[in-house]
Amino acid sequence: ASRFLEVPQAPPDAILGISEAFKADNSPQKMNLGVGAYRDEEGKPVVLGAVREAERRVLEDPTENKEYLGMGGIPEFCRLSARMAFGEGSAALREGRNATIQGLSGTGCLRVGGEFLSRFYPGPKIVLIPTPSWANHRAIFERCGMQVQQYRYYKADTRGLDFEGMIEDIKAAPEGAILLLHACAHNPTGVDPTPEQWQGILDAALAKKLLVFFDSAYQGFASGDLDRDGYSIRLFCDAGLELLLAQSFAKNMGLYGERVGALTVIVGDSAAAKKVESQLKITARQMYSNPPRHGASIATRILADPQLYAQWKVELKGMADRILTMRQQLYQALQEVGAPGDWGHILRQIGMFSYTGLTKAQVENMTNKWHVYMTFDGRISMAGLSSSKCGYLAQAMKDSVE
Ligand code: PLP
Repeated sequence: ASRFLEVPQAPPDAILGISEAFKADNSPQKMNLGVGAYRDEEGKPVVLGAVREAERRVLEDPTENKEYLGMGGIPEFCRLSARMAFGEGSAALREGRNATIQGLSGTGCLRVGGEFLSRFYPGPKIVLIPTPSWANHRAIFERCGMQVQQYRYYKADTRGLDFEGMIEDIKAAPEGAILLLHACAHNPTGVDPTPEQWQGILDAALAKKLLVFFDSAYQGFASGDLDRDGYSIRLFCDAGLELLLAQSFAKNMGLYGERVGALTVIVGDSAAAKKVESQLKITARQMYSNPPRHGASIATRILADPQLYAQWKVELKGMADRILTMRQQLYQALQEVGAPGDWGHILRQIGMFSYTGLTKAQVENMTNKWHVYMTFDGRISMAGLSSSKCGYLAQAMKDSVE
């Protein structure tokens, strides 16, 4: 007997369920391209050299301890994270118009940001997310009591951005609504706006007085260059908008399970920044009290030490370049096996994923016949691929689309 027998079984997680099925498959050819985590050429998880060195320094530092952090985390981590996102010359940071706290990676920062907005945002509690988006966005904001609506983003015909549709939907949004944007390397499509298109999105957001919430899970991981991947955030911030930013260090520092992130609210007046910061801290206090020390101590050392920072940037570029090489090699392999259709989007798409255009039935063939595990929307993680496997993957794709 249990008073919880009536609890409904939760549906399996779309992505973690794939990993389960992958584990149960005994084929030597099996490939897991479902999960969004970087792997080396041998398919092994990677701990960056800069992370290992920073961690060694943390462990050897006699002044380090296991006391609680404050509700907002490590102040130096917050300052350096904001600088990394908004740039050295950011007027908003110089003028003290940011409230930044350390959070539980990207997800935790989105959630605290959502909680804060649901209590204190004076505008409509409506969040606009792209179609499609990272699956957790809707769930997170709905859990915060917000209403979630969608705007057009991906165009299947061109496998690119539906810019006109996106602008039309933004223009039709309620004035003052919240606009969620992927800062770079849109997940799952790998389709990002061009600089001109970002300007168009900015103009439309300004015209409707929208509050932009940037989700930045891939800065530096997309192009290999932190400044280049920070383009959209800086464009909007330098235009004087108030905005939110959820920053994750999961991918770019490879700190996935350490849960390292930062939440920033940029406001128009430094007096407002102090009040906002006080409320972000109380929100954190009520959810988890204070964030964990270890991962953020590592990240702080990397961000603060010029030599470690330089080493990290080289390693970050190495990861981004390997992904670009995988795009080229897969494209090449698809040409060689004569897979029908145009696969140029594999080269054009940005970041960790490729949105192949395979249908659900084709994905089922990939998995059942070829032991290739991927999400049903046709997304593959390029970071899980290696040179030696491109030929096999191309064969499987050819067979599945024919
Ligand atoms: N946002 C996007 C678009 C993502 O792709 C991810 C991770 O896959 C996240 C946020 C959050 O990741 P984490 O909570 O591990 O930082």
